[in-house]
Amino acid sequence: MRHPVFAANWKMNQAPADAKAFLKQFMASYPRQQDRQVLFFPPALSVSVVVDATKDRPDIAVGVQNIHWEDAGAFTGETSAPMSRAAGARFVLVGHSERRHVFGETEEQTSLKVAAAFRAGLVPMICVGETLAQRESGDTNAVIIRQLRAALATLAPNQVANCMVAYEPVWAIGTGKTATPDDAATAHRALRLELKGLTNDREEAVPILYGGSVNRGNAGVLLAAGDVDGLLVGGASLEADGWSGLVRT
Ligand code: PEP
Repeated sequence: MRHPVFAANWKMNQAPADAKAFLKQFMASYPRQQDRQVLFFPPALSVSVVVDATKDRPDIAVGVQNIHWEDAGAFTGETSAPMSRAAGARFVLVGHSERRHVFGETEEQTSLKVAAAFRAGLVPMICVGETLAQRESGDTNAVIIRQLRAALATLAPNQVANCMVAYEPVWAIGTGKTATPDDAATAHRALRLELKGLTNDREEAVPILYGGSVNRGNAGVLLAAGDVDGLLVGGASLEADGWSGLVRT
């Protein structure tokens, strides 16, 4: 059985000193667990601090929130996959709703970033999700399947089997609204069925996380929903004791 994955997306929060203080408190209250994996996605400037603070903990790993699709070059302000890997990151978020909707990231760019992640040895966590208008017009499954296929377009089935996926309805991120466990299960089921073909029947190898206003109160029911293998958490991952409680769910 796969262990649940609890992923903290700190977004543009936790400068290096804040990250250090957070980890000191978190590590003191959260001893090593055999039955779950914790991932931190700090802002790029704090990655080294989190890598350092968690280096003796195989149950904890670090990722970056974004990469450029080129490996190096004249791209002022960008961070590459190889330099992220060199700094100790092992995962990368690709296609997060804020990248798509605030920064205009296209589906073609998500595909290029996933390919760059694999070249550098990073595991991409591909984020997909529908807007409220798309949900209300009955397009949820079509949208998330299209986003999934586009992001994975360059990969062979064995590479797809080594990815992670996060279903994050856009209308639920940072809004206090969550999908019902049934809605989450329906979307996750659709993603799993699509992954069956894309992985040559190794769809169970791909963890599918739910994200969108997860907190300590709702984490248990969402995690218990069908095909939900973990949680991707923004706001509720920013305070060490709260996060320590949530990852024990
Ligand atoms: C996220 O940023 O991926 C997220 C789910 O945020 P929040 O938990 O704050 O809705």
